[in-house]
Amino acid sequence: MEGVSFPLDRPIQFLRGVGPRRAEAFQRLGLLSARDLLYHIPRRYDDASTVQPIRSLEVGMEATVVGRVRSAGILPTRSGLRIFQAVLQDESGMITCAWPGQPWLEKRIRKGDLVLAVGPVRFFHGRQVHPREFTVLAREGEEDDGGRTGTVFVSYPAAEEVPQWVLRRVVALNLDRLLEEVAQEEFLSDEDLRNLGLCSLPEALAALHRPQDLQEVEKGRRRLAFDELFFLQVVQAQVRFRQTQAVPGIAFARTNRLIRPFHASLPFRLTEAQARVLREIYDDMTSPRRMNRLLQGDVGSGKTVVAAFALLLALESGYQGALMAPTEILAEQHASKLRRWLEPLGVEVVFLRGGMTPAERRSALQRIAEGTAPLVVGTHALIQEGVTFARLGLVVVDEQHRFGVRQRLALAEQPGNPDVLVMSATPIPRSLAMALYGDLDLSLLDELPPGRQPVETLLFPPARRAEAYRILEEEMAGGHQAYVVYPLVEESEKVDLLSAKEEFRRLAEEVFPHRRLGLLHGQLPPAEKEAVMRAFLAREIDLLVATTVIEVGIDVPNATAMLIEHAERFGLSQLHQLRGRVGRGGGRSRCLLVAEGGEAAWNRLRVFQQTHDGFAIAKADLELRGPGDLFGTQQHGRDPILRYADLGRDELLLAQAQEKARSLVAQDPELTEPAHRQIRALLRARHGEKLRLYGVG
Ligand code: ADP
Ligand code: MG
Repeated sequence: MEGVSFPLDRPIQFLRGVGPRRAEAFQRLGLLSARDLLYHIPRRYDDASTVQPIRSLEVGMEATVVGRVRSAGILPTRSGLRIFQAVLQDESGMITCAWPGQPWLEKRIRKGDLVLAVGPVRFFHGRQVHPREFTVLAREGEEDDGGRTGTVFVSYPAAEEVPQWVLRRVVALNLDRLLEEVAQEEFLSDEDLRNLGLCSLPEALAALHRPQDLQEVEKGRRRLAFDELFFLQVVQAQVRFRQTQAVPGIAFARTNRLIRPFHASLPFRLTEAQARVLREIYDDMTSPRRMNRLLQGDVGSGKTVVAAFALLLALESGYQGALMAPTEILAEQHASKLRRWLEPLGVEVVFLRGGMTPAERRSALQRIAEGTAPLVVGTHALIQEGVTFARLGLVVVDEQHRFGVRQRLALAEQPGNPDVLVMSATPIPRSLAMALYGDLDLSLLDELPPGRQPVETLLFPPARRAEAYRILEEEMAGGHQAYVVYPLVEESEKVDLLSAKEEFRRLAEEVFPHRRLGLLHGQLPPAEKEAVMRAFLAREIDLLVATTVIEVGIDVPNATAMLIEHAERFGLSQLHQLRGRVGRGGGRSRCLLVAEGGEAAWNRLRVFQQTHDGFAIAKADLELRGPGDLFGTQQHGRDPILRYADLGRDELLLAQAQEKARSLVAQDPELTEPAHRQIRALLRARHGEKLRLYGVG
């Protein structure tokens, strides 16, 4: 079955109207096979019922017109500006379309072409349309109705070498045949289609290429969206199956020997969300099925204490536990917090530091291997370097969003199949979490401990930076500490670094000469980074100038103000992470954003200013900037994982896709039953990139 190929897999060259030369151009557009063409759906649909008769256009109107080009040419002007002009004619009359400064359009728009143009009508020697957008719907003499079917015009993503009219013609020549072929690939039964409220594949693709109306387009999109969500969920369900069902798990025995005294020793009550999440974790851990769970919680929602309880359950059942963090400093903070909490209960915490002497390290490793070190804290090197545990029962990973899918999957490949709890302080909307982490079960800490004051957030244009400095000074004069953060964009790392260093000097010499400043950036050797952080923790530094390396989990309660430069360059979720570094002491804290950019950038920051709920901020990010920012490392290459699905709108569809995928995989994990082979083959043919991403292909 592996070698199955579908007719749609044939090279695009063999389609009518293509041939070897054109095939090369198509390939450059990423269209290699017949399938690629069929799934190359229009990027724009114009409702033809809004197309106006040319005669009816008046100056000041927004025009959408379709007409044949009667004449076209370049009009030079005295100022040297070259204007491309084309006169369009429809049944009602004629009008000039003008494109100032775009003489190259002479090659794209020719006499006899059928053109759709959208733009304002201006007065310039009479009425003129100044198109913002246009499409050549058909060439001279073509019988083609210009891609108009029903009341909708379609425009494909095109390129110089494969213009719109070529795509349109090749699709028109081949579509009927391709639709027959794709009918062979239908994997949903009529009953499925009815239950899910979806149309069949050929119906969907017909609707997308030649819709009768815009509702049809949405129907078609929903079907393709379902397919891509479903296949992604199938891959994730397979990973989930392999990691949690196909291997024996540990049924931990809750004795309360450690959990109860720990509970009694806490100076606070657990929030309801913490209690609920702990029930979910205990249920997983005490069941024989292996746990693979993601705990999502906003900054400060109290994930560490949840992790501590889970680790104690492993320990009181006679297993070892490991807690890993992405940086040495963060691991150290966890280690010292756990020591403070757990040593009174007689639980030893072993911190596998980077700077240990070989002898210290050897002895620690030996105790871990013998099982006499019950609880081990360290960076991810803990797993990467293959530290051997005698009886590892639970691995907790903090701030997992820093790591890619593969690293996360590698975690679960531990000998002895320990339970896995990954924690993330980057709240993301539920739909995105399901799309990204369909292989995990989700727990949500959606409540902050009581009594937290939201961090007051203020916006400054660069010209008012001095006011922001005054606020920093005010905080420092009151005995508090502060941060100044610079963005670090990968492409220009050196430039940004320079600016952070230069700014550091300027701040130290000119702005805050009487304060103690420290500089922290990603290119410092780890030991130096640590020394700076340690000095800040010990209050030997008043103002820490840093790049975004401080983003992750650092806890300095005495820091009460943060100034963020170039705030417009950050995603809102990232700003939220940064802001979470202050306001940890219970008193008043302030976050000062210095931002350039236009109205749109400021509006985005205003949303941030008024919102303190990380989940809501992530939702706004998703809506304003799309999933790219939130996908992070998961966005591989230029190819988005989701082309048709819109996580803002398709949440229900995603839940349905997940349910169907999980039940399918539960019945037939490797999809070897005859009824499922089609899905398995399609997964390879249509969604190979998902398999590769998850390393299961
Ligand atoms: P995060 O989820 O960002 O990792 P932490 O686990 O570091 O948050 O918790 C933030 C702070 O809140 C810590 O000082 C922690 O001790 C405290 N904390 C946790 N749970 C509660 C609670 N239920 N009530 C009050 N304070 C809490
Ligand atoms: Mg934390």
